[in-house]
Formats: sequence, C-alpha cells, structure tokens
Amino acid sequence: VSNPNAKTIQVKLVLLGEAAVGKSSLVLRFVNDEFQDNKEPTIGAAFLTQKCRLEDKIIKFEIWDTAGQERFHSLAPMYYRNAQAAVVVYDVTKAASLDKAKSWVKELQRQANPNIVIALAGNKVDLVQPAGEGEDESFEMESGRQVPTEEAKAYSNETGLLFFETSAKKGDGVTNVFTEIAKKIPLEH
Ligand code: GDP
Repeated sequence: VSNPNAKTIQVKLVLLGEAAVGKSSLVLRFVNDEFQDNKEPTIGAAFLTQKCRLEDKIIKFEIWDTAGQERFHSLAPMYYRNAQAAVVVYDVTKAASLDKAKSWVKELQRQANPNIVIALAGNKVDLVQPAGEGEDESFEMESGRQVPTEEAKAYSNETGLLFFETSAKKGDGVTNVFTEIAKKIPLEH
C-alpha cells in the first residue's frame, strides 16, 4: 500500500451458504486473521471491509456476510443484487451443504448481476483426515469428508465458478479466495 498512485477499487462481495458452514469465520480470518471456536450466529447480515493489493491497484472489499438461516433467505437479494462478487460456502463434511450451495449458485446466476464473479468454497478441510496409506486404498475418501474435491471441482468447472477448499480455522486457502476473485473482476472502473 506504499504506491501513492495506486488506485483504490471497491468491490462489493456477498457471502452465501447454509448456516454454520463457516461464512463468518472465513470473513473473520480474511479481515482480522483470527478464528473463534464458538461464533454466535449472524443475524440478518454483517458488514466488514478489507483491502488487498493487486499489482498497482488496491482492492477494497465491501463484504456482506449474510445469515444462513432459511428465515433470512428473503433478505439475500438485497445483498447480492449489486454485488460484483459472491463466495458461496459449503462444509466439506456435510454433503447437504453442497446442495444448498448449488441452489444459491442457481439463484445468483438467474437473479444477480450477469457479470458477477462467483467462487465456491468448501470449508472446514481441517476436519478431514487423510485416507489410509494402503495399496488398494487409492480411491478411499478421507475420513470425515462427505464432498469429494473432484466432484465439487467438476461442478464448478461446468458452472463457471472459481473453486477453493479452505479452513477458516487453520487459515488455509482463505486469502487466496479473495485475491483470485480480485483478479477476475474487471478493474477499469
Ligand atoms: P456461518 O453460520 O456460516 O457464518 O458459520 P460460522 O462462521 O458461524 O461457523 C459455524 C461453526 O463452525 C463455528 O463453531 C465455527 O467455529 C466453526 N467453523 C467455521 N469454520 C471452520 C473451519 O474451517 N474448521 C472448523 N473445524 N470449524 C469451523
């Protein structure tokens, strides 16, 4: 942030996904580089900002972290309507949370800005244990995992999404989600 000529570009970003997949935790990790084990659920939506640097530009993310509970679903369009980016989060240890993520992606692709950059993030990879090392176990899923990486990656490719696996707890992959989104946003404005 030392270049005085660096231009600041605001990017409105919304987080969507089932309750408890770790949306708020991902934001907290990205913004404050911290993790809380028993986070209070978000009510409605929370707003935070964080800057990140991309070549000679400064990207200021204006982050809307929405509540995942179904009773808040009707509020979501207010947050994604003008968003340039969305992070749709699921929990790699909960298959149903990927179904919910897919339904958010569908809704975004129908109703949000057609140029919106969408990233799919499979969170909580720290809960997954590596599969056994035995010779015949190459196809065995790691214990704890319910969503194979390849399945989510294939879906993301077909659907035109960026794809990441993350751990808000350990910090793995979190900053990458935001910097890869920043690279995809048209930055001329
Ligand atoms: P949200 O409802 O989607 O915003 O989810 P939260 O951020 O409130 O997280 C729900 C619960 O999952 C909390 O107890 C978090 O501490 C926990 N959690 C969030 N991210 C991770 C992660 O990457 N790994 C693990 N093990 N737990 C996580």
